[in-house]
Amino acid sequence: MRVEDAGYLFVIGVIAMHDQKRVMSVCECCDSAYAANVLSDGSVQPIGTQHCSCGSERFRAIR
Ligand SMILES: [Zn+2]
Repeated sequence: MRVEDAGYLFVIGVIAMHDQKRVMSVCECCDSAYAANVLSDGSVQPIGTQHCSCGSERFRAIR
């Protein structure tokens, strides 16, 4: 990958980040709290991880 391409992808990534709504979420199984993004389809995605330490992949946003 060329440097120019990497810079382009970085800019796209920053824009994508700004499009996401940042919320606090909790695991539906063990109530552990995670910072999360709400994706365009409405699902809650914890930042930096795919699933809770308990193994659950289901999270709900805290209003
Ligand atoms: Zn959990």
